[in-house]
Parts: sequence; C-alpha cells; structure tokens
Amino acid sequence: MFVTERNRSKHHVYFETLSGRAELDRKESADLRRHRSGYSGECEYDAVLDAVGHDNLFVFRDIWLRIGGGEVQFDALIVADNVLAVNEIKNYSGNYSYENGVWRVRGQQISEDPVSQLSRAAGKLVKLRNESGFPFDIEKEIVFINPYFIFGGGEGGDSDGAGGSRHFIMRNRLKQYFRSLGNHTSGRSAKVLSEEIAGRIIADPYPVPETDYGRLRLGVNCFRCGSFDVEMKRFVSICRGCGYAETVERLVVRTVVDFAVLFPGEEVTKKKISDFLDGSVDLQRVQRLMKKYFPIVPNSSRTHYRIADNNPVKTLKAGGYSSHYEHDPEFMFETHPRRHKLQANYL
Ligand SMILES: [Zn+2]
Repeated sequence: MFVTERNRSKHHVYFETLSGRAELDRKESADLRRHRSGYSGECEYDAVLDAVGHDNLFVFRDIWLRIGGGEVQFDALIVADNVLAVNEIKNYSGNYSYENGVWRVRGQQISEDPVSQLSRAAGKLVKLRNESGFPFDIEKEIVFINPYFIFGGGEGGDSDGAGGSRHFIMRNRLKQYFRSLGNHTSGRSAKVLSEEIAGRIIADPYPVPETDYGRLRLGVNCFRCGSFDVEMKRFVSICRGCGYAETVERLVVRTVVDFAVLFPGEEVTKKKISDFLDGSVDLQRVQRLMKKYFPIVPNSSRTHYRIADNNPVKTLKAGGYSSHYEHDPEFMFETHPRRHKLQANYL
C-alpha cells in the first residue's frame, strides 16, 4: 500500500509557478524541464507498481527523512518483513554510458551521478538500521523508467566493482522486479519499521530561490493557457486567448497559493494579493475569500494568513469549494450543486 502521496517537489512547484509570471533564464528553464521529467517518471513508476499490486508492501514515496543528524531524500522506499528497498527513479532517455563514476549521454558528461546518489541513500539506511536497532536487509536499485533509455555499458575499471549496473532495473524488467518484491511477507516487523520511517519524515529542508518581485508580471493569468489577456466579469474571469472561464473564487485561491510559493517567508495579506492581481479583484472580496480558505495567523499585528498547502486543488476541496459558476468538471467536487447531473451525463 502507498503510505505517502506522490506530489511535485517544492522546487518543482516553485519553477512551475515562476514560469507563469516571469521569463525563466536558461538555468531555470533547465531546472523546470528536469523536474517535470523526473516527476513524470515517478508517476509512471507508481502506475507500474499499481498495476502489479502492492498490498503486501509499505510504499513510501517522495519523502525526506532525518537520519543520523542529516537529511536525505528518497524517490521510493519499500518496506517488507526484514527488507528495506530503496529505489532511485531516473527518467533518462537516449544513449547513456557510465564509466569511472562519470555518466555521459551522447558522449556529453552529465552533472548527476545516480550511482553515487543511490550509495549515499543506502548508506543513510545503514545508519537508520544502527539507530533503530531493527534488523533488516537493505536492497538498492536505480529504476530507469523510460523505455527509451539505452545503456551503452562502460563501468570498466570502476572500483565499485561491477558496481553500477548490477543495481539497474530497466523498464522492461520493472514488473518482474515489483513482483519479486511482492513475494515478501509484511507482518509485524514490516509494520514496526514503517512506523519508524514515518516518524522520521521531515519537510524538504532546502529553501527555494529568492524571487525578485520586480521581474514578475502582475495581474490575472489564465489557468489554462497562461495568457494575461483576461476579462474580469462579476463571478468569472474569461481568457480572451483561449476562452477558458475560471471563477473569481478559484482564481483568488490559486493566486494566494502562487504568491506563497514564490514568497514563502512573507506574510500573506489581502493587500499583497490584491496588488499581485494588479487590482483586478477588489480588496474586500479578496479578504472574504482568503478568510474562507486560509486560517489567520494568530497573535500578529497585521492580519495575515497561513498557506499550508502548495496545491490549490486541495485547498479548494478542504474549503468546501462549490461555486455555482464553476463549469470545469475537474473542479466540480463532491459538494458541487451540479455534480450529480455531471455524473449522469457521463454515464
Ligand atoms: Zn487562456
């Protein structure tokens, strides 16, 4: 079973949000591409694991753990009785080689080294074993999820022995690998180890870059196409570019979340959000909606709000979003007045 959700990382969400309001430079664009590719690889990994089944296992996805005074990130940790498997997921495609600790794609060296990442992660698990006192075997694999990943070998004089590729799982062997994991039992010892891991989960400790307010485009952007050519009506905004309609309620919630993602250290006030929207939604309305969806931070001189989640969909759901003006099925949640009609239409 999946113990934790798979979410886009804090940095991934940051660059997605920044790209909606600023021109990204080369490095930022490359970072965003890398995050997108990594995340889609991880989702694909989850889908394959789902297809094979994981009732018998405790699967932690996308977590940071505190171990031995340090922090370490895991794409996937799988727990069974007396076994802890770490999977580093890579969505590489193309011709890769690995030799003497150096990865190359089409002859060009790349900056990351999955083999040393995996060793580091597994090393932390050895520490976890020592600290917790539970006996378990540690298995480590790099999962190359992309079917177009071609490994041209190498690894020649690598001191890690046949090191690298011994721990590679290619896409065409992934189901088989998951099935072999599924053959383990998961009884009391798996449960205890899972609880130990769950108790060590921390938030991603690395801060996102600082955002220069001056480079951002203010105003209302279209949820679907990103255009700033948006017409404001009383209850909905309509994109002149693609015609997409978004309720003002949803738009404000989304913008508050965007602001908090770009400026995580700042107090989020109605004035800042109104300015961020370049005055397109009036202050009272911004305030009313913020009050509905976000808790006020207590004991502070200026009213500001706590934005706990960087996912506006979750925030809307938790706040009981059910606007009558909502027509996008993706946002017509259980509580929506026309939800049943919508379902009937789909049958
Ligand atoms: Zn649009």
